[in-house]
Amino acid sequence: MARYRITSYRYPSEEGILALTLLLVVGVIIFTATATFCTAGIFILLMLVVVYFMNKSHHENLIRQAQPIRSETMPELYQMVKECAERLQPGPIESFVAGSSQLNAYTFGMSDPKIVVLYSSLFKIMDADEIRFIIGHELGHVSLGHTWLNTLIGGMAGIPAPMGAAVILSAAFMWWNRACEYSADRAGLLACGSLVKATSALVKLGTGKRLSTQAEMDRAMAAVDKEDDDITNVLGEMLATHPLIIKRINELKKYAATPEYTRLQAEISRG
Ligand SMILES: [Zn+2]
Repeated sequence: MARYRITSYRYPSEEGILALTLLLVVGVIIFTATATFCTAGIFILLMLVVVYFMNKSHHENLIRQAQPIRSETMPELYQMVKECAERLQPGPIESFVAGSSQLNAYTFGMSDPKIVVLYSSLFKIMDADEIRFIIGHELGHVSLGHTWLNTLIGGMAGIPAPMGAAVILSAAFMWWNRACEYSADRAGLLACGSLVKATSALVKLGTGKRLSTQAEMDRAMAAVDKEDDDITNVLGEMLATHPLIIKRINELKKYAATPEYTRLQAEISRG
């Protein structure tokens, strides 16, 4: 048995230097992490500014080619937009009709008034209640804050990231986009007040046809109904901002059957 410590020959500063080294390691880790975090923050902010101004000029261009919906120039449509806005209370909006062969409508704006644009080709194939569904859908996006969230989150989802992360980010963004579409469809239904009209508006959007007879509508509906039987459609949806039309119709049907819808519809109709 040794009566002295067998390690007592340790060089005097060894332990002190080890402690200092460990402290430095921790310090460097904290410093790099903070620096990365700040750089990422500044980067995201810069991205958002770029996206904001790109969107802004894109939108200003679109508006320049569109006609404002005013009581003097488009009295019927003006009245429809006004009624839908009274039902859904989206806050300050300005609405326009843009000449286009595309079947589309959209809304944008970071600040008030939010802009709603309806493409002229919608009026060639849809009746008044179907247009109300479309207007209500867009006003729903406005009410639920999708317009500015879309710019913000879209900007963040667009930040350059390693390949795998970029795919996950954009897939998540589109997933959220599709959820927003279901919400906006509910607003459309609340605006037009008819599941039949909401459905026919969606079928017309999907097929791009006027479908003036019941037989035409039934045939188109049957075609739309087959959409989710095709695996490529189902997979393709994962990379799309809009759900399949048949899914949108089914979600609306489910929602229309809820007591929540009945209650809200009655409340809105009372005004
Ligand atoms: Zn939408």
